[in-house]
Amino acid sequence: MRLPLLLAGLLFLVACGREPALHRLSGHTMGTTWHVTLTAPAGLSLRAAALTAGVEQTLEAVNASMSTYREDSEISRFNRLPVNSWFTVSESFFHVLSAALAVGRDSGGAYDITVGPLVNLWGFGPAGVAVTPPEPAAIEQTLQQVGQHWLRLDSSEMRVLKTADVYLDLSSIAKGWAVDEVARWLREQGIEDYLVEVGGEMRVAGQSPRGDAWRVAIEQPDARQFGIAGAIRLSDQGVATSGSYRNFFEVDGVRYSHSIDPRTGYPIAHELVSVTVVNASTMLADAWATALTVLGAQEAWSVAQAQGLAVYLIERDGDGFSSRFTEAFEPLLDDLPQTSK
Ligand code: ADP
Ligand code: MG
Repeated sequence: MRLPLLLAGLLFLVACGREPALHRLSGHTMGTTWHVTLTAPAGLSLRAAALTAGVEQTLEAVNASMSTYREDSEISRFNRLPVNSWFTVSESFFHVLSAALAVGRDSGGAYDITVGPLVNLWGFGPAGVAVTPPEPAAIEQTLQQVGQHWLRLDSSEMRVLKTADVYLDLSSIAKGWAVDEVARWLREQGIEDYLVEVGGEMRVAGQSPRGDAWRVAIEQPDARQFGIAGAIRLSDQGVATSGSYRNFFEVDGVRYSHSIDPRTGYPIAHELVSVTVVNASTMLADAWATALTVLGAQEAWSVAQAQGLAVYLIERDGDGFSSRFTEAFEPLLDDLPQTSK
């Protein structure tokens, strides 16, 4: 009778959560999906439903602050505010805004979160989808509202002021920030092995369920089919990919990307089709992926080098693609085709 007793003991241990447990959780947020894979340490009392609820609450807090799709969010209230009145914001809103302005500065204005009115004009915002490109005069006029120099930040009082009728759009950075926030919540619960992904931006820490380093695939930039360009190995880092091949509309054979150059008012149209950035902050990886996409291959390359960023670029090259990566990216490489450096 010893065996059944032993089995009963084992079952008891499992029932008490004394064994590490693998969870795969998912849901919807920010007009896209989220996924979390985690290994909960032995003894963690939280079950799958409680973990999902915790992730959802964290994402809800980010949306309540940064979603332009919500009338009552912090960002929407700021966007409706008249010019020249200070607006006190939450600590996280201030943090994300400051980071976005720094990327705006360091990218020479290619990245600019006041691009919102142009995003809406081109039909990529909450205002709805465009069927034809806007008139040049409308673009010219909308450009008057765009420019982060219209913003003042007061860090001692945690408040923001606009000196022109600007409209903020944090879509290019909020998903990365949400990933960092979910990761933080998981760590607070004592969870050390996880992958968090929101709309393609992700962060990993600890070990994968297989007990080795997390591997992340870089997608081959082709809207017609799914393929893998290669893979990287990561630990406690964020990774974001911007791809002009995924989110666009087409009129008369011309492709209009959702990445808009705030310096010209027009969507980007160049050979740089995919930018992957790895960073200790998923928020910064997300913002830089968009910033470098707008800059285009040549400028993206020199800015990435100057900033010491870990970046992998894929350009259209005739019928195929060519890729290159910065020095900081090299240690991450797993089995990427090493075409150039
Ligand atoms: P991607 O994965 O292609 O970078 P994101 O959702 O991260 O996609 O960012 C794209 C979004 O950022 C656009 O839909 C738009 O709202 C906003 N955006 C577009 N152009 C710029 C820009 N130059 N600077 C900052 N944000 C931008
Ligand atoms: Mg982005």
